[in-house]
Amino acid sequence: MVISFNDSSLNSICAKIKAKLEKQNELDEHVFNIELLNDFNSVSINNSEFYRNEPAVHQKSSNKVIVNKSIFFYYNIEQQIAIITHEIAHTYICKTNQKKLKNSYFGVLSEEYLADYFVCKWGFIKELKAERMQSYGNEYCKCLEKCRMLVNILIVSVLGI
Ligand SMILES: [Zn+2]
Repeated sequence: MVISFNDSSLNSICAKIKAKLEKQNELDEHVFNIELLNDFNSVSINNSEFYRNEPAVHQKSSNKVIVNKSIFFYYNIEQQIAIITHEIAHTYICKTNQKKLKNSYFGVLSEEYLADYFVCKWGFIKELKAERMQSYGNEYCKCLEKCRMLVNILIVSVLGI
């Protein structure tokens, strides 16, 4: 598993993420590209304006994670880890085409939730909660904890992932 990035200001964040992700067998053959940009003003992201003020986004056209320097570093370290790992999860979902997982068992869940599930599975629930508490609130965090257990049982027992 390789995390490649273009700016040394991401060194310590990426090292922390890599330390946990490299323990995940499912990620063994994967390369994740992370690109720090000054801002998202000149970037076309999924044909939407919505993403201009996001700290990081998974760019589907290139299947890489782009990070918005003008916003990202206002978040604390835990939140930064959660933000990038969530986008890495989108990349992973996209690369591995997890349609079976999404459609058969998670039809009611959006890819957003599935991405958060992987962030938890890969060992970053504390970091994810630090971010989600701020962006989605306590109810989401409680739900995340409950669903994580249920989803874990489904994934391990039904899909063997
Ligand atoms: Zn997302």
